[in-house]
Amino acid sequence: MSKKYAIGIDLGGTNLRVALVSEGGEIIRKIRKSSSGGILDSLLESIEEIRQDEIAGIGVGVAGIIDRKNGRVFSSPNLRAVEGIDLLQGIERKFNVPVFLENDANAAALGEKVSGAGKNFENFVLLTLGTGIGGGIIHKGGLLDVSAEIGHMSINAEAEKCPCGNTGCLENYASARAMIARAVTMLEKGTESILKECCKGSIYKITPEDIYKAALEGDTLSREILREAGRALGVGLANIINILSPEAIILAGGLVGAWNIYVQEAIREASRRAFKDLFDSVKIIPSSFGDAAGVVGAASLVFMKLEENIPPRF
Ligand SMILES: [Zn+2]
Repeated sequence: MSKKYAIGIDLGGTNLRVALVSEGGEIIRKIRKSSSGGILDSLLESIEEIRQDEIAGIGVGVAGIIDRKNGRVFSSPNLRAVEGIDLLQGIERKFNVPVFLENDANAAALGEKVSGAGKNFENFVLLTLGTGIGGGIIHKGGLLDVSAEIGHMSINAEAEKCPCGNTGCLENYASARAMIARAVTMLEKGTESILKECCKGSIYKITPEDIYKAALEGDTLSREILREAGRALGVGLANIINILSPEAIILAGGLVGAWNIYVQEAIREASRRAFKDLFDSVKIIPSSFGDAAGVVGAASLVFMKLEENIPPRF
């Protein structure tokens, strides 16, 4: 009998998410922890907490550039702690099941294709909108084996340097980290906003959820932060549409919760910038899994690789 469950892990710049997922993409159990601190130990503990006897394998999605052959992360600007660590070996040794590594957004794209919003599309781009911005591309029904670091597409050649080495990267304007940085800068300058009252007065603890909530209450600064980030995202969307003319762009990650202001603004901006015919034929839609797209995708990776008989590390 085939083992119908896999563990999917999504290791992002802020959160570590681990879930037990069925072959059909259903989440049976999930946990979320902070991704700061000892990464490998947290990973092993979380897997232990969530696993059951019969699992097909473990899929690990990590934000960054992946060295698939050696099971390592070459570079991860938002999660330096994982660079160079042999994540796979540590997990394989302890649990003795096949373990596969993939970029987090690539894994999420695969998950959407297998059992989510991408099911009916042959060509689409998935963006994870969180601490940073990740990308995954499905081409002719399969995961395109490229880095797809869409968050590090430059939208401003003259701007400050990004930790990746480029300047003016999309994620420096449109990500959760960018929104929080903007809020803190404006509040430090004395801008009036109800954000001052959240987080028991500590502006350094503001989250994108706080900004969205304040915006819904009519806070001018919060609305402007979301709109500005949305416009930047729209520039990125227009570039994607003009270059790849996908059938769909699927948006995943925590920021999708701010759809009504942030994503709507992005869609408006993209419509002003992209080739009209290309814009008219792309659907910009939310992920089926919200902020769980990464764990479902990482689990899908396990089922796909085992079905194709691809051994871990190759
Ligand atoms: Zn960058």
